[in-house]
Amino acid sequence: MTRPWYIEHPEALAVEATVLDRRPGAVLLDRSPFFPGGGGQLPDRGRMTWSGGALAFEGAESDERGLWHRFAGDDEPHGTVLLEVDAGFRHLMCELHTLAHVLNALVYQAHGGALLTGAQLSADGTFRVDFDLPGVDSASLRALEAPMNEAIRGNLRVTDSYLRRAEAEAIPGMFRSKSVSPPPSPDGQVRIVEIAGLDRQACGGTHLASTGQARLARILKIDNKGRQNRRIKVGLGEA
Ligand SMILES: [Zn+2]
Repeated sequence: MTRPWYIEHPEALAVEATVLDRRPGAVLLDRSPFFPGGGGQLPDRGRMTWSGGALAFEGAESDERGLWHRFAGDDEPHGTVLLEVDAGFRHLMCELHTLAHVLNALVYQAHGGALLTGAQLSADGTFRVDFDLPGVDSASLRALEAPMNEAIRGNLRVTDSYLRRAEAEAIPGMFRSKSVSPPPSPDGQVRIVEIAGLDRQACGGTHLASTGQARLARILKIDNKGRQNRRIKVGLGEA
């Protein structure tokens, strides 16, 4: 059973890999540090260096053999390659993603188990989360900014563990999204991400090691998206 490198070795952002197969502009690798994107988190940025030069990472798609990595141009790299994740961009995604969990937990607790209907992290240092929240006023959602920043100041540890899928499904609130659930791992287990004392939920993305590594954040905007949905937009940095 193999778990993704970005989960098993979140600090190892540069790794050598072997090209197992290739086609113009894409390679199948034996291992890779790149987060391919998913669940509202953008794919990593970075590059691959091989004997023919360096190429920018452009995304990945899986088939039955594994993850095909796409790179700029139509070279066909081969042999041993060096893969390097853009550390600043990864950190930004971890920061936004971790704060999305914090806000998600606060909404879930304050509003009777409200579920997420959408989430998107952005490269500009903002994210938005949509919730199924009929009849909730904007002021009570804006009021969550203070406890969100309290959770950052509290520097809560973020850890992960695994549960069998049936076990996870039996715990209320473990699957927080109305429509999307994290991809099952090959052994039928589900990854659970825990923010100490605040939140536990199934997730396959990348996160900070503790909430104190995030900057304080602001709730920028609350929109109504249809009768049921409230969209909360959050930006990093103090007001
Ligand atoms: Zn997550």
